[in-house]
Amino acid sequence: MSKVIMQVKNITKKFSANNRFLTACDNIHLNINAGETVGIVGESGCGKSTLAKMIMNIYKPTSGEIIYHNQDITKLKGEDLRQNYRHIQMVFQDPISAFNPKMKIGNIICEPLLNFKSIKKSQMKEKAKELLRLVELPEDFIDRYPHNLSGGQRQRVAIDRALALEPKIIVCDEATSALDVSVQAKIIELLVKLQREKNITYIFICHDLALVSLFSHRIAVMYLGNIVEKIDGDKLIKAKHPYTKALLKAVFSLNNEQNKNIETLSGDIPSPLDLPKGCPFQNRCKYCKDICKQEKPKLKEISVNHHVACHLF
Ligand code: SF4
Repeated sequence: MSKVIMQVKNITKKFSANNRFLTACDNIHLNINAGETVGIVGESGCGKSTLAKMIMNIYKPTSGEIIYHNQDITKLKGEDLRQNYRHIQMVFQDPISAFNPKMKIGNIICEPLLNFKSIKKSQMKEKAKELLRLVELPEDFIDRYPHNLSGGQRQRVAIDRALALEPKIIVCDEATSALDVSVQAKIIELLVKLQREKNITYIFICHDLALVSLFSHRIAVMYLGNIVEKIDGDKLIKAKHPYTKALLKAVFSLNNEQNKNIETLSGDIPSPLDLPKGCPFQNRCKYCKDICKQEKPKLKEISVNHHVACHLF
């Protein structure tokens, strides 16, 4: 059995807005195993990026803990917090905004190593070439600038920069969403190859359920700040929660029959400032019954490694 590398324990994040509270994440619980990919999916505003930012210590949670190496990393400060970034790195959707446009690629990928004094300036050129080979980019890219590269090449540089410190966990926040489909596939292939070689753990945040299901070992589906279903990636077809099933029905496929209607979700997403009592999915769910409006369903294990938050189960 794989070893748990990180425990997200009952994490809640509330933001204050005009004397009210917006609940971005509500009591999230997730164990992440070493060397696996956990896909976190859901529509925009479901809280998945807020969760990623709490794992990265960009946001502090309102309550709960994130345990890594036997300590709650949400409480880290100063040098301890800085050292924690060695272990947990992030790749963003838009690398161009994360890069200094005046820096050459070699400097961009070696900057974290210099900051942590892991290499000397004199070693930078050789290390940059080694890192570029790792992400299958030509060595002469060290002297290029970000604007000289294509979107896919820039994302490889972003992955390379994240890899430089040899982290144990990489959080990918919509890391392939801005790329063409063919480039997206190549980046995913690269991530999978690197995972096999280095036993990296990925937390892959994405709105595209079809993409996530291709390579995630486990998937957590989020709706309005809640995890509503957790399931093994290869069992996604057996998903039970009405929201996950609706997402699956909305996936386009080359095999779709031309005359078949694509089912879409009806009803509006409630405002996170004014969440209904009971199940957060109630006003869009065709199975909604009285209890759904009174009691919020708890996430229950209905079969091995399969958890659902729904009164139908
Ligand atoms: Fe639908 Fe009720 Fe299940 Fe919520 S708890 S998803 S409203 S059936």
